[in-house]
Amino acid sequence: MYDLAILGGGPSGLTAGMYAGRANLKTIVVDKGLPGGQMQNTLEIENYPGYKSITGPQLSELYYEHMLEFGAEWRQAEVVDVDLAGSVKKIILAGGETITAKALIIATGTQPKKLNVPGERELAGRGVSYCATCDGAFFRNKHVIVVGGGDSAVEEGIFLTRFAAQVTIVHRRDQLRAAPILQQRAFANDKIRFVWDTIVEEIVGENRVTQVKLKNMKTGEVSHLDADGVFIYIGYLPNTGFLQATGLLNANGYIDTDGTMATKIPGVFAAGDVRETYLRQIVTAAGDGAVAAMSAYHYLETL
Ligand code: NAP
Repeated sequence: MYDLAILGGGPSGLTAGMYAGRANLKTIVVDKGLPGGQMQNTLEIENYPGYKSITGPQLSELYYEHMLEFGAEWRQAEVVDVDLAGSVKKIILAGGETITAKALIIATGTQPKKLNVPGERELAGRGVSYCATCDGAFFRNKHVIVVGGGDSAVEEGIFLTRFAAQVTIVHRRDQLRAAPILQQRAFANDKIRFVWDTIVEEIVGENRVTQVKLKNMKTGEVSHLDADGVFIYIGYLPNTGFLQATGLLNANGYIDTDGTMATKIPGVFAAGDVRETYLRQIVTAAGDGAVAAMSAYHYLETL
């Protein structure tokens, strides 16, 4: 029986593990992938305080080593179900094994929705990005395409005009979903142009993005557009499928917490991108992880 189980080994989970280990809690962090989560997919990180530039895998390794140093365990396994009803939290792994813990932190993050077109996976990190805040500065004076028509696409499209010479927002309909104020700002921005009723059928390039293949949904016309980058903002999916039956999820599939990262189930906390939150960055995820670990520590003291 662990004092604390942490589901997800991205920046929030690894930070929570580090804090919990340092507080002498018997702690396990479970993740189906490599330590670092979405950081592993980021070529260069240049907005993490203290590091002007570090690669995602390097920062992941530093987080991981730091956590192990304070005694938390790492377990690579997929969590398929949980039973949070009793005071002992049960975590069921693929293969049937059950881990038990007195407290739980859910830090399973999100994943950007994918277009699922040829070139998207091959050119990820080589011009294809899901994070303008992370990668926008690499496209100074370049032409970037933003795919999507929601708040994220329009807001991030506006953000990208700080760097890019031109931003083309490609949207599958002739009307944006984004809030009117964002639309007004985008329409008033000289650097932004729109391609309506259009989907991206393919992202083209050898080692870097050079072009996208577009298809007009109304006319069926296929065209090619030169571009240096493609930012895909067609929504995010929280990694919470295994939590469906717990009652923890809000209408968007995220977890609501209070300022101590507590969920509505005693002893269950959430941290990082998986919780309903204002900003989803490595530094905010790490902050959440620290708060969640300390909250779990104080919860365990009351048992
Ligand atoms: P979203 O609101 O779900 O919008 C996704 C956009 O991508 C929609 O325009 C959708 O087109 C398009 N899309 C979806 N699947 C597609 C596909 N396969 N191919 C092409 N286009 C596709 O997602 P979001 O913009 O990331 O926002 C998520 C949530 O966060 C929303 O609740 C949003 O309000 C909120 N948010 C708020 C702010 C803010 O308040 N400043 C900023 C960012 C996000 P259709 O319109 O045709 O469906």
